[in-house]
Amino acid sequence: MRILITAGPTREFFDSVRFLSNPSTGKMGYALARAAASRRHKVVLVSGPVALDPPSGVRCIRVVSAADMYDACRTAFRSCDVAIFTAAVCDYRPARRFSTKRAKKAEPWHMVLRPTRDIAAMLGRVKGRRITVGFAMEDHNGRAHAERKLCKKALDMIVLNGPQNVGSDRAQVEVLARAGTWVRWPGRLKSAVAERLIRELERLASNRLKRGDPKRVKGGLL
Ligand code: C5P
Repeated sequence: MRILITAGPTREFFDSVRFLSNPSTGKMGYALARAAASRRHKVVLVSGPVALDPPSGVRCIRVVSAADMYDACRTAFRSCDVAIFTAAVCDYRPARRFSTKRAKKAEPWHMVLRPTRDIAAMLGRVKGRRITVGFAMEDHNGRAHAERKLCKKALDMIVLNGPQNVGSDRAQVEVLARAGTWVRWPGRLKSAVAERLIRELERLASNRLKRGDPKRVKGGLL
């Protein structure tokens, strides 16, 4: 399969040196890229700024902002069969970016934030028969929020995880496939979670092939 994976945080700059972001380390996305490449899939990894080296055999496109990530994904998505969205994309960006470092002032500063594009949702609208997987990081009402995201972003599968997984080498997740029920995957190394997810996607893709049209559609899958 040809697999697009997004990973890491994005940075939304408000002046020449400062930005809004989050603590994502990219470990899950990079583990997925490594697992997929080791099973001989062709991987494009679109990564925000992280301190990790891309796994060998993986094409890595480095980006900074949510807008950059969207542009890179839109192009890569055209020739992919599967997309896995693990990136912690910033939901908002500062409306204004100062070209030089903004000096501190005594008064409070009200910054206007604008929503960024939702990459998974936008690509979900044009996915055709591609398989798409999202990750939901939730600290309350996890299942309900993740179920809403599965539908809103037209995902085939969603992986629910909590803040305790951020930055860790281990992950405890729950997984929901469309028309399926929640399955808890016990806490284990992210590399093991990644391998299991890639195998699940192989199974999903091969079931799709068996069920229907055996031909690849233009630019996409299955
Ligand atoms: O931020 P949210 O909880 O909605 O993220 C759920 C999923 O959507 C994740 O897979 C994330 O990578 C993806 N996402 C995205 N673009 C955004 C926000 C989230 O692709 N702007």
